[in-house]
Amino acid sequence: MKLRSKIATVMTILGITIILLTSIFYYYWSQHLLIEEEMDTLTDISLSASHEINTHLYEISNTVLTLSSSPVIRDTLIESNNHFSLLTVEEREDKIETLSQQWTETTDLNSPFLQSYLNNPVASHLRLQKELIKERYGELFITNRYGVIIATTNKLTTINHAHKYWWEASFNDGIGRIFIDDRGFDASAYGYVIGVVVPIIYEDKIIGIMKCNVNILDILDHVMLNFENLYEDSTVRIVRTGGLIVSELGSAPLSKVVPDRLIEVLDQKENQAFAMKENEVMQLMGVSEVPITKGSSVIGFGGSYESIDHIKGNTGESWHVVVSIKRAVFSKMIESTTQMLILIGIIITLITSFVSLYLGKKISDPLVALTHFTHKVGEGSLGERIKVTSNDEIGILSSSFNEMVENLQTTMASKNELITEIEKRTVAEEKLKSLTITDELTKINNRRAANQFLHQTIERAERYDEKLSVIILDIDHFKKVNNSHGHDYGDTVLITLSSILSDCIRTCDMVARIGGEEFLIILPQISKESAYQVAERIRNTVSEYNFTKLDQLTVSMGVAEFDSTDDFDTLLKRADDGLYHSKNTGRNKVTLF
Ligand code: GH3
Ligand code: MG
Ligand code: MG
Repeated sequence: MKLRSKIATVMTILGITIILLTSIFYYYWSQHLLIEEEMDTLTDISLSASHEINTHLYEISNTVLTLSSSPVIRDTLIESNNHFSLLTVEEREDKIETLSQQWTETTDLNSPFLQSYLNNPVASHLRLQKELIKERYGELFITNRYGVIIATTNKLTTINHAHKYWWEASFNDGIGRIFIDDRGFDASAYGYVIGVVVPIIYEDKIIGIMKCNVNILDILDHVMLNFENLYEDSTVRIVRTGGLIVSELGSAPLSKVVPDRLIEVLDQKENQAFAMKENEVMQLMGVSEVPITKGSSVIGFGGSYESIDHIKGNTGESWHVVVSIKRAVFSKMIESTTQMLILIGIIITLITSFVSLYLGKKISDPLVALTHFTHKVGEGSLGERIKVTSNDEIGILSSSFNEMVENLQTTMASKNELITEIEKRTVAEEKLKSLTITDELTKINNRRAANQFLHQTIERAERYDEKLSVIILDIDHFKKVNNSHGHDYGDTVLITLSSILSDCIRTCDMVARIGGEEFLIILPQISKESAYQVAERIRNTVSEYNFTKLDQLTVSMGVAEFDSTDDFDTLLKRADDGLYHSKNTGRNKVTLF
């Protein structure tokens, strides 16, 4: 794999690994973080919604309280109470009983009896208030401290209310407190009614109880809508602790119940956020209790089966705002962000890979060129030069290579010159050497060579106790040859004789020209008898040889064998004596000495 492909592959694998790890981390981390954030938000929303409902309920209670504080109401109540208080208990019960009967029996609203309740100054005051906010208020009525109606905007089923739970709750054993009666949904009027019951206190004593039924359906719907719009994809509900849904957009109040799991949470009466499945869908929920509905010594809250909705009465439950959102909504959000992250990551990785590929090519191309270059230089093409295309590290490297090859070329040139010089000198030395041991005319060994060889051979003969013989040869009457045929011809004769002598001996023997026409033949490991035979053969060969201008050429020889008493000089001396003897006894002779 090429360098650039390697880099690109590594970058791609690295990039994809980083993208995957980052995405996985982001997916889980953001889910964790978002869920926490969402839960906080849901808690905040449920808290805000519950406070808004709380405020509305407070305002309604205050309005009713303000309504009840009219002097006309107070005066009328004092008068009524005085009237009833003057009676004994039995008389009072009888009186109430009588009045109740008359109330039930009287159906004509215009009868003086009913008109005394429906059209007295207090009733007029109440009606006036009711007229101001028509849709919201139902009937308003006031009882004295004995539970007997003193004024009402409608004719109710009974005149006596002292035994009713809401009356007792507000009377509160004479201490008095506001009581909000969660009467429930009136399907016929399509309204959600709460009865606000307030004690009317004068000089620290309860002088009467006022009740005002208020339709709060539009208030609840408004709050629901506001908060649902506030947070996308969320659902806001008001739920009683027991699970009945008080308000939910699109459903009739008290017509649905939340799942048991949510009821368990509501039962804990804590403001909290959590995740749970509802209708098979995982939801995140924020729950908070509407404070006023908790009930306290100042304001009670609740209801009874005597409420409008006899089955769905509030038995000491409070209201909770439940804000929920499907978990998938923001899981989807995270998923799309993660997908975007992966996409961006892949694009960045691809760009990085291409850049790596490009950079890799930029780096590897000069390296490949350098490799080719070094290869060629390695093969001996010292004239090659690499093109330097940049001034970066590779450019510097290329220049260094060029410099190196240039130096190498110079060095090689000097080396070649040196080798040639050495060769020349060697040849010259060889020549010189050969000149020092070669006879110039005949090209056979000269005296120096003969001396050297004889010394060595004597040494060897002594060491190994070998035989050694020498022959000294001199041409007979050579002066005559020169005189008769010229010096040059004499030279030719000398050359021819040298050749004859060389042919007559073994390769391990040596023949040398040791004087003008004097030759020495050294025969290692040869006895005097054999040497004598060699000399005889030479003598015969020469005397029989046809020298063109001569009738015959003869030579005289002295032969001597080396013995233990000999040295270099004595050996040659004896051979020379032999030669001398041959000369003196007629020439063309061999004398063994
Ligand atoms: P002898 O039989 O007693 O040896 O008689 P010779 O004439 O050969 O006498 P000698 O050996 O004294 O003389 C040698 C002669 O060889 C003398 C010289 O002119 C001749 N000579 C020596 N060197 C050369 C040479 O290189 N070339 C030629 N042409 N002649 C040479
Ligand atoms: Mg001579
Ligand atoms: Mg001679």
